[in-house]
Amino acid sequence: MQIIGLDDFLNENPLMNVLPTSKGKSIELKGKVKLSHQFKHFPQVSRLIEVKVSIPEQYPFSSPIFEEVGGFVPKRDDFHVNPDGSLCLGTPFRIEAFIRKEPNFNTFYKRFFIPYIYAVSLKIMNSVDFVFGELKHGNAGELEDFCDIFGVQNKSQILGCLNSLAMKKRLANKRPCPCECGRRLGACRFHYKINQQRNILPRSWYRNLKSRLS
Ligand SMILES: [Zn+2]
Repeated sequence: MQIIGLDDFLNENPLMNVLPTSKGKSIELKGKVKLSHQFKHFPQVSRLIEVKVSIPEQYPFSSPIFEEVGGFVPKRDDFHVNPDGSLCLGTPFRIEAFIRKEPNFNTFYKRFFIPYIYAVSLKIMNSVDFVFGELKHGNAGELEDFCDIFGVQNKSQILGCLNSLAMKKRLANKRPCPCECGRRLGACRFHYKINQQRNILPRSWYRNLKSRLS
């Protein structure tokens, strides 16, 4: 399996190794990455982070999984560590939309892992709370994220948006607008917002998300 950007990642992170895996399985990486990052007026952080990464066979249709294995990040919800030990680098929507548009693994690492581990490091070493705007974990976090993406206020509007995205455009435009203006979607300016998200992820993806969040 050829992962775009993996060679660049390994060149830039020479302490990372590809573990031997059988054909058709996910690619496992293990070792240390060097964090050397600074954001706005916040302190510079330079340290080695021990990680395990799993790039699934379905990549870029399924996201890479990162674990911190050096005992640096507390395995807790408030450090965005999932119950299975994987790091919560963002909402599934943000991540999956990103890797479909930009399937380069090295870019993904820089865009999602680096800001995450930098923010966590500041929280651990300098007691600075998450500098990248704290998104709540799990469903609550996803709903909050979608409120921003769609510019809406409540869950029923979000579920309406996801329902529209799970349908073909022509059909969705005939249905009531998810912004709850009382018109049909096609007659409301809100359809521009919905159409921006179309084709980023398949209709089935929005359908599954809707049933997960309902
Ligand atoms: Zn509307």
